[in-house]
Amino acid sequence: MTDHIDRRTTLIGMGAVGLTAAACGSAQVPPPGRKLGYAIVGLGSYATRQIMPQFENCRFSRLTALVSGTPAKLDQYGDQYKIPARNRYSYANFDSVRNNPDVDIVYVILPNALHAEYVVRSARAGKHVMCEKPMAVSSAECLTMINACRQAGRKLMIGYRSRFQPHNMEAIRLARSRAVGKPGLIESEHGFPIGDPTQWRLKRALSGGGSLMDIGIYSLQALRYMSGEEPVSVSATEFTDRSDIRFREVEDRIAFNLLFPSGLIGQGFSSYNSNHNHLRLTGDKGWIDLDPATQYGGQEMRVRIGNDERKVTPPDGPGANQFAGQLDHLSLCVLSNREPIVGGEEGLRDLRIMEAIYRSMKEGRTIRL
Ligand code: NDP
Repeated sequence: MTDHIDRRTTLIGMGAVGLTAAACGSAQVPPPGRKLGYAIVGLGSYATRQIMPQFENCRFSRLTALVSGTPAKLDQYGDQYKIPARNRYSYANFDSVRNNPDVDIVYVILPNALHAEYVVRSARAGKHVMCEKPMAVSSAECLTMINACRQAGRKLMIGYRSRFQPHNMEAIRLARSRAVGKPGLIESEHGFPIGDPTQWRLKRALSGGGSLMDIGIYSLQALRYMSGEEPVSVSATEFTDRSDIRFREVEDRIAFNLLFPSGLIGQGFSSYNSNHNHLRLTGDKGWIDLDPATQYGGQEMRVRIGNDERKVTPPDGPGANQFAGQLDHLSLCVLSNREPIVGGEEGLRDLRIMEAIYRSMKEGRTIRL
């Protein structure tokens, strides 16, 4: 194995502050002490189980407000996180957040079809915005969101946490440095068996689509960030059992192929029927393999160069926390007036490609991008 792999990379050795500062292009890291205040909109599973507990691991971010349609959640989480009553909002009075100096950033963690409205309302209230993936349910909505934030002079970032996950960051570095030679193929599969047929993810009006919008977007992102290129064409195949009560409105399985300008081919897969969480880039000298690739934790990476194959573990440390890294990245970008590495334009690109994937399935042909 070459020392490409053994050497501690600059990025990974720097920890969370280094990761977020380097990623947003800031050479100057503001001194710790100024923590920006986040308001969380939508107290569902991802917000309460994954994001809210992470503020204690942040150096530049703190939780200062909650927005919910469920008063009992405002009581429960407001008390748990010591959020004063004046910083607990309903959706109806949310716009008054404009008068709240405790809130610098609004983090929208609502069902997909509600992202656009709350991003626009947040920007109009003068707040910077973090928005969960997928950015919206159409590219037209993405443009409206980007324009609203631009007009308000506020930052917009999409919650692509894998870009702050150390194994994924190291995989990107290895791919770019040609550690496994010239890449020819990237494969990425993501999926899980979806349960409750009544949930919003299976209602088109709230989700905008099925497995592709929800979990397949990780495959799409991985193909794009590992390639470092933008696809020029896409073709896709779908299988959905419409007699299954879960899939009356949205798709189950999609396989899609992207062609990149260098000749690199990306194969993506998305499923609401089986578990997948994998990413592999194959070059002419070897491969980089992450399995699981983008879960909340437990990532494993193997790299093969020639006949030498080994497990690669980025060193632990503050930089190992993708959630805190993501939250602090936006705070640092605000504090140092830089653009996030995954801003609104990045979310828009994914929506445009997903729209092309749906079009390819519908029309049964390759779509030029
Ligand atoms: P949940 O269903 O668990 O939570 C959504 C919350 O939104 C609800 O609890 C509710 O909160 C609020 N809400 C407001 N209006 C509605 C409505 N009409 N129907 C349902 N809920 C409503 O969803 P998730 O937390 O799993 O997903 C939320 C967003 O986060 C999605 O965009 C999803 O794609 C994204 N996500 C991202 C992940 C990642 O790893 N980056 C992982 C999981 C989700 P309240 O009662 O407080 O009003």
